[in-house]
Amino acid sequence: MNDLAASEAQVLICGAGPAGLALACALHDRGLAVRVLEQADAAALARPADDGREIALTHRSRRVLEQLGLWGRLCDIAPLRRASVRSSGTRTPLAFEAAGQDLGWLVANHRIRAAAWEAAQQRGMDIRCGRQVAGFWREARVAVVQTRTGERHAAPLVVAADSRFSPLRRLAGIAARHHDFGRSALLVPLTHEREHEGLAQECFLEGRTLALLPKTGRRSSAVWTVANAELPRIAAMDDAAFAAAIAAAAEGSLGEMRVDGARHVYPLVAVWAQRFVAPRLALIGDAAVGMHPVTAHGYNLGLHGVEALSRRLEPGCDPGEMGALLAYEAEHRRAAGPLYAGTNALVRFFTDDRAPVLALRRAVIDMARHLPPLRAAITRRLVDA
Ligand SMILES: Cc1cc2nc3c(=O)[nH]c(=O)nc-3n(C[C@H](O)[C@H](O)[C@H](O)COP(=O)(O)OP(=O)(O)OC[C@H]3O[C@@H](n4cnc5c(N)ncnc54)[C@H](O)[C@@H]3O)c2cc1C
Repeated sequence: MNDLAASEAQVLICGAGPAGLALACALHDRGLAVRVLEQADAAALARPADDGREIALTHRSRRVLEQLGLWGRLCDIAPLRRASVRSSGTRTPLAFEAAGQDLGWLVANHRIRAAAWEAAQQRGMDIRCGRQVAGFWREARVAVVQTRTGERHAAPLVVAADSRFSPLRRLAGIAARHHDFGRSALLVPLTHEREHEGLAQECFLEGRTLALLPKTGRRSSAVWTVANAELPRIAAMDDAAFAAAIAAAAEGSLGEMRVDGARHVYPLVAVWAQRFVAPRLALIGDAAVGMHPVTAHGYNLGLHGVEALSRRLEPGCDPGEMGALLAYEAEHRRAAGPLYAGTNALVRFFTDDRAPVLALRRAVIDMARHLPPLRAAITRRLVDA
């Protein structure tokens, strides 16, 4: 019997990344029959390689991960107690702190992936690995997905959770706006002499941006953002020179530093899908909206989408019913739109090194330091987004 005939899935999710697996768990818990198709093999999903990303999670995301049973499976969770932002030339940084609570938490992306895989396995879910989605079409009451080897899978609703460059989105003919920042993020794990005390530092320097994200112990992850033309020169630096350059950019706040693992490079391209739904299709995670990482909203938005979509799908109803899909799209676009536009505008403003813009940047940071209500509003956004 071929897979199409055997298919009993009500929802077919393409992509077993952190968004796809979280959605699979949420829908399973609502009583829907879910199947996941993923191009990677099961071993790579069960023990994902460290990809260098440290994911800042908000309070809202923590609640979702707790409900799905993922949070308790995470290890090496580093509390994010405070954040500071400075631009070259600002004497005092702009500081954010939430009274009596952490701003959020940082967890390595591969730990989130492993936890999501374990949570799905524990539910006994139908996850088919080594399946690369290569075809998509609609029939009377189902959408059909075909893998590269010709296997067919059908369900009343298909979900694209297959990354910001989503092949399924393209196959379905949904256009997306890509914003290439012409820059790349170089991620480097470091150990250092002094405690970071849960402080995340964002330094907008001329020609480059440096973020230092606290990990457990005296460890941090440096996110060094440079123009693509500069990348070969920076990437060629040896570990000692690299650690010294980051320590200097951090103005010695963490003392002497040492590189503590492999470097990873991510070209920075933000993506906004023109539609988040189409007949018998929904986009989720980065396939719907792929964020620039500076505001740390990507996976947090992915979890927002998981909540918004799963809440609208009922076991007894057709999961591909357009009314429910449109309601998901409206809610998720309302949440993601301002964050997407705001993040891109912030990146443009903080990476434009022309003299008048630099001066304005310093003035904005100084002004914000003296406006507690503005800082409180930004802090609320950081905590609850
Ligand atoms: C440097 C960096 C830092 C970040 N920091 C943060 C942060 O601090 N906070 C935050 O919230 N977010 C952050 N993010 C964003 C976050 O990492 C992403 O939003 C999240 O990983 C996206 O998950 P996803 O499941 O949508 O996609 P992905 O993780 O890309 O997973 C997609 C899955 O689909 C599979 N797939 C792809 N094509 C096919 C196909 N044809 N057939 C079958 N399977 C397929 C892939 O193999 C993969 O398993 C950061 C991102 C970067 C790059």
